[in-house]
Amino acid sequence: MAIRSLGNRTVRIWNRIWAKINQQPPFDNESQRTVVLLRCVYLVLMGYYIFFFFALGIYCRMYEQSFYISWVAIISEICTFALFWLSYRQRISTNLKLYVAAELLWLAGFVYLFGWECGAQQIMFVLLVLVYFSFYDALLQKAAFTVLLFLFRFALFAYTKQHDPFSRLPDTLSLVLQVWSSMSFFTLMGIICGFFSSNIESADKKLVLYNQRLREQASTDPLTGLWNRRTMRIYLNSNREQDPKMAFSICMGDIDLFKHVNDTYGHDCGDAVLKWLSERMKSRVEGKGQICRWGGEEFLMYFPKMNGDETQQLLMVFLLELERSPFCWREEMIPVSMTFGVEEYDFHSEMDALIKKADEKLYIGKERGRNQVVF
Ligand code: GH3
Ligand code: MG
Ligand code: MG
Repeated sequence: MAIRSLGNRTVRIWNRIWAKINQQPPFDNESQRTVVLLRCVYLVLMGYYIFFFFALGIYCRMYEQSFYISWVAIISEICTFALFWLSYRQRISTNLKLYVAAELLWLAGFVYLFGWECGAQQIMFVLLVLVYFSFYDALLQKAAFTVLLFLFRFALFAYTKQHDPFSRLPDTLSLVLQVWSSMSFFTLMGIICGFFSSNIESADKKLVLYNQRLREQASTDPLTGLWNRRTMRIYLNSNREQDPKMAFSICMGDIDLFKHVNDTYGHDCGDAVLKWLSERMKSRVEGKGQICRWGGEEFLMYFPKMNGDETQQLLMVFLLELERSPFCWREEMIPVSMTFGVEEYDFHSEMDALIKKADEKLYIGKERGRNQVVF
């Protein structure tokens, strides 16, 4: 029980801290992601400096050194905390510039005090990545910053080659600090890269989904959700190319007296009939062939490996079903029927010629009184 309440409290405290870190940037049109990243970097750095403070403090006590060298870590800690606090009040770019300046100062001070061996100079790579990812455009400034950073690093290195550090740390402590620096900087690099790669990933994902949606929109009819004529044509071409000798049949269907439905019950009702019929035809055709909305109230069906008789049979069953279950619109039953023209592949005609023949048969069906399949 006590453990559970402690757990709940920890979760609550963590949620509050996370909400604080996630707080919006103080100014409009600034990236929340960047400000959150900066705050995370500051938190890691605060941990980094605290460790330094204790490590140097212990060293000063053990080796009876002047204690003030460990204060360099405390000053850095205070500066980092101030930057964290300012991230809720300043523009991100100002905050970042201040951070870069403070970091370079700390670095110079650290190398001056303890030399090159303690690994503090690795922070430069963190700075570089942070600046590149956080500022948009400004490629020239970024390039200039890279060059300056390199020169600064080179100058520090040259300085340490010619001067002894102010305080030469014992090898073990140097090693500990080196390892701690590496760990901290790798953590920072991981956080920065994680933040921005997830940014790129999510943008990439959005783009893929957007493209998918665009493709779907371009290939389907918005009202019925069936393929449109263009998609059917592409499908037919590729299907025929894959197996030109395969038998198939096609069918052109048209709703009977649809204008009358529109005129009597309104365009909305007409649309609803179109959707309703499309769903029913789709489920009839599913697994056997493909269907598309060819035009206004006309549908083209394609049945691979099926001859004309089989297709005619399937459509006659469909017409019987339509007769048995009329369309219901605002509690009124509206009888809906269709006429179909079926054409079988004769193993030499082009697809367009077959479609034309199916269309002619459809009109024969209309002339003969509608609600039938002509083959
Ligand atoms: P027939 O049996 O000879 O085919 O008669 P019909 O009334 O169905 O044929 P007609 O070509 O005279 O009319 C077709 C109608 O279909 C006219 C047009 O307004 C309607 N239509 C076409 N597309 C749509 C649509 O997307 N929604 C609605 N509501 N009506 C549509
Ligand atoms: Mg019609
Ligand atoms: Mg028509």
